[in-house]
This record gives sequence, structure tokens and C-alpha cells, in this order.
Amino acid sequence: MLRLLIIGAAGRMGQALTRAASERSDMRITGAVDAPGGAQVGRDVGELAGVGRLGVTITSDLAATLAESDAALDFSHASASATSLAACVAAGRPLLIGTTGHDAHFRHELERAARHIALLVAANTSVGVTLLTEVARRCAEVLPLEFDVEIFEAHHRHKKDAPSGTALALGRAVADARGQDLDEVGVRNRIGAAPREPGEIGFAVMRGGDIVGEHSVVFAGDGEQLVLTHRATDRSVFARGALEAAAWLARRPPGRYHMRDILSKTAS
Ligand code: NAD
Repeated sequence: MLRLLIIGAAGRMGQALTRAASERSDMRITGAVDAPGGAQVGRDVGELAGVGRLGVTITSDLAATLAESDAALDFSHASASATSLAACVAAGRPLLIGTTGHDAHFRHELERAARHIALLVAANTSVGVTLLTEVARRCAEVLPLEFDVEIFEAHHRHKKDAPSGTALALGRAVADARGQDLDEVGVRNRIGAAPREPGEIGFAVMRGGDIVGEHSVVFAGDGEQLVLTHRATDRSVFARGALEAAAWLARRPPGRYHMRDILSKTAS
């Protein structure tokens, strides 16, 4: 029985993870952490998520709850990721970070931590988006640079970071496959009078309503367009994918892993 700790347990994703875990017989939530002073600290994590009392109180004591867990999932806020990472390295626990909005400096810290623990960072833990990324990568390898690439994403009105971490990850996958550096060719604000430069990878963002998450990668050529779209209609898809990945990660030696690594396992 895999014992899981959720960081950001009181949030939308934290609650979705609690509900998804309650449907599985091979794992249980043994730790629930949220921000110090948060309104939900002290509540039972199962009651908050609507699945009934689980006997696990939401706390802000990360080290104590880690000691009683086999693996941790962080779906809180980018500013909390460094603390989660350091605590998991100190405790020797695998960590899945689903939080988005990290800076380049943090990406270096990840490489160092992966020497000590099994680590998976995914801006999107849905199996469908993992496949979308792989298909987009393949299209970028095959199609000539003359095909313009635009990445469109739409999310609910509360989402803080833009473009979404998933959109940036899609852009990075396309740029890598075309031998480009996204920092050089990514265009986030196409406003003004200049025409499109060759090789650009553009981002378009919409925020509104309760949209769970939509991502499209458009390859626009002369005379034809290839459009790849994923629509999430329920955040349980991110939770179910994250739990599948955490179960897989918990059996791995230290190292840096990716959602695509679990695809063959999910398909079987
Ligand atoms: P949310 O705001 O509903 O929940 C975040 C929770 O984290 C809150 O309860 C908040 O109190 C808590 N928190 C903030 N700082 C903390 C800290 N220092 N320590 C512990 N807890 C802390 O947000 P959400 O919609 O649940 O999303 C959370 C994160 O997950 C975001 O970064 C979002 O972009 C990302 N996300 C990832 C996926 C994925 O598939 N990987 C899917 C959806 C959302």
C-alpha cells in the first residue's frame, strides 16, 4: 500500500488528488500539507474533498508528514517548490511536482536534487496531454521550418501564470525537435505592426469562466494546417495521471523522470 503526501492539499488539485486516491485500493493519503496559517489547516483532508473522513489532518508540518509517507506530490505554488524539494531530498522520498510557474534557476536545483531522489516535474499530468506533447514533437521533427507554429491555451479566470506551464512545455518540445532555443524564438505578446518572423513559436492565451484547460498546437503551412488539440473537461484527469505517475515513480531509483516515461506502462 503506497502512502502518499499531498502538498497543497486544500487547493483545487489537492482535493482532486484526494478524491482520485480514495478510488484506488493500492494507495492511501497519509499526509496533507497546506500553507501555514491557511484557512483549511486543521481540517480532515477527506472531509474537505467530499469523500468522508480519512483521519488525516491538513497540517503545515512538512517534515513530520514526510516521515510517514512513501512519496510526495506537490500541487501548491511555485514559491513552495524549493522547500518541498529540500524536504524530500532530506527525507529521501520521491517527489512529483505538478506546480507550474518555475524560473530557470529552479530548473538547475531540480538537476541537483535528482541525484538523490526520484523526481518527476510535469506541468500537466494528464495522459492525453503527455501524448499531445509527443505527437507535437514528432510533427515538429518531420515538418519543415516553413510551417509556422502557434500554441493556443485557455484556462479558468483564477489561473495565475500565463502562458500556462503546459503551453511552455509544448513550445519547448517543438523547439527542441526543430533544433531551436525557445528563449530565442518564443513570442508571447504578438501586438503591434510587425509581420511574423520565420521560425517563431507564438503563444496565445485566453482566461475566462471555469475552463479546466485547453491546448492546441498549430502547424500552419502554405496550403495546409495541422491542428492538434487537447481539452480537459474535468481536473480529475490531471489527478488520475499524477497518481499513476507517483505509483510508478515510487519504484524508481534516484533520477529525473518525465510523464512520457510512464506512457508505455499506462497503455499496457
Ligand atoms: P489552488 O490555488 O486551488 O491550490 C493551491 C494550494 O496550495 C492552496 O490550498 C494554497 O493554500 C496551497 N499553498 C500555497 N502555498 C503553499 C505552501 N508554501 N505550502 C503548502 N501549500 C501551499 O491551485 P490549483 O488549481 O490546485 O493548482 C495548484 C498548482 O498546480 C498550480 O501551479 C497549477 O498551475 C498546477 N496545476 C498543475 C496541473 C498538472 O497537471 N500538473 C493541473 C492543474 C494545476
